[in-house]
Amino acid sequence: SETLHIVGGGMAGSEAAWQAANAGVRVVIHEMRPKVETFAHRTGNLAEMVCSNSFRSDDSEQNAVGLLHWEMRAADGLIMATADAHRLPAGGALAVDRDPFSETVTARLMDHPNISVSYEEVTELPDQGQWIIATGPLTSSALGQAIQAETGADALAFFDAIAPIVYAESVNMDVAWMQSRYDKGETEEERTAYLNCPMDKDQYEAFIDALLAADKTEFHEGETAGYFDGCLPIEVMAERGRETLRHGPMKPVGLTNAHKPEEKAWAVVQLRRDNALGTLFNIVGFQTKMKYGAQTEVFRMIPGLENASFARLGGIHRNTFINSPTLLDAQMRLKSRPNIRFAGQITGVEGYVESAAMGLLAGRLAAAEMTGGTLSAPPGTTAMGALTTHITGGAEAKSFQPMNVNFGLFPPVEGLRGGRRGRKDRYKAYTDRAKADFQSWLAGAAG
Ligand code: FAD
Repeated sequence: SETLHIVGGGMAGSEAAWQAANAGVRVVIHEMRPKVETFAHRTGNLAEMVCSNSFRSDDSEQNAVGLLHWEMRAADGLIMATADAHRLPAGGALAVDRDPFSETVTARLMDHPNISVSYEEVTELPDQGQWIIATGPLTSSALGQAIQAETGADALAFFDAIAPIVYAESVNMDVAWMQSRYDKGETEEERTAYLNCPMDKDQYEAFIDALLAADKTEFHEGETAGYFDGCLPIEVMAERGRETLRHGPMKPVGLTNAHKPEEKAWAVVQLRRDNALGTLFNIVGFQTKMKYGAQTEVFRMIPGLENASFARLGGIHRNTFINSPTLLDAQMRLKSRPNIRFAGQITGVEGYVESAAMGLLAGRLAAAEMTGGTLSAPPGTTAMGALTTHITGGAEAKSFQPMNVNFGLFPPVEGLRGGRRGRKDRYKAYTDRAKADFQSWLAGAAG
């Protein structure tokens, strides 16, 4: 029978191998470490955690990543089972003892009768056979170039430039208004793509001061080697001159304040719709290296965002990822070469848990295809499905940037109270619905 080749034995590749092997498929994992190193990995282990040792919240009733834990446990996930076995006390978070964790994942994969590991770098996109590319944020440069040759230069990024993403419902629409610059756009969708937050001169000056004073993070050593080509953090733009932002991403032209049409704003912060559901908006041009705590403080100074809640905060990192919304089909296959699936962080999800979840799914989808079955991704009401739907089509392709799992990706549950007070009930309703739907998906997959 046919062999499934998985390139990259990280979070995603390890989980994909486990799932496919358990479905009866023979798997070869191709891992370049320890022969070829990255600036972040330290060992030759599979599923090495390169930075923090946290899988974040383990609350499966009120937190989207906790829900994803739950789903992966329900699907017999190796990464979750091993994390649970090497759990460290950390309150509501799932912290992991990293070395025993990756050693155990490696041992369990090596012991599996259907899995073998080949320690070598893959440098080409293969024409034949079934493949999953799960080479992560630090994909080797030879393979990165091969992918770019296939997808086009615009569809593979070597750095992310993540602007903060705000829940639409948390924007104060008594201050903000909806309008595209110069009222451009033919369709209703285009005309409702932007929210605008006005600033007067004093507010602008105070904002610049806060940006300049905020705590920033540094790039890791080796992180910028050879690649970083600009896409400046906003605080760096502000350092270049106090007026730079007002002539750049915060320019006030072509916009009229719907609440005060007679007042000319000194600067305007624009937010662009980030998903088809219209639940998430990103702050345009606001990629930043400010620390998370500083970001919430500084961004809540923006009129209209006083009470903003953030689905994710901004960042800039070395991060190889493809434009999945244009390149992948709903089966996570490369449309131009359907024998190749992508999984993990390279698909534009972010984080250990999200990456492993995409590996879990890709492994199952590949195994189903190879054993003559059919399987679709879980429904968009589940955490795994919401994330998959987002990267394979729900996200705006033009501004596509890596995404963490969050409730803004879920279709709303009807008939619930809005606002802060209703939030707990709403999240519980999302997670109840997700668990039931995920169980049905698993049952269908088994049948
Ligand atoms: P990885 O786990 O990186 O696995 C990819 C594997 O592919 C690696 O083992 C690599 O050696 C191998 N590989 C690459 N190219 C080739 C090739 N051509 N041939 C063969 N093998 C290849 N996430 C968090 O949740 N929390 C954090 O604190 C965090 N910090 C991070 C810090 C840094 C510096 C970086 C770079 C990333 C960080 N991430 C963090 C993201 C995290 O690395 C990913 O979410 C997760 O590891 C991605 O899983 P993956 O399987 O997609 O990639």
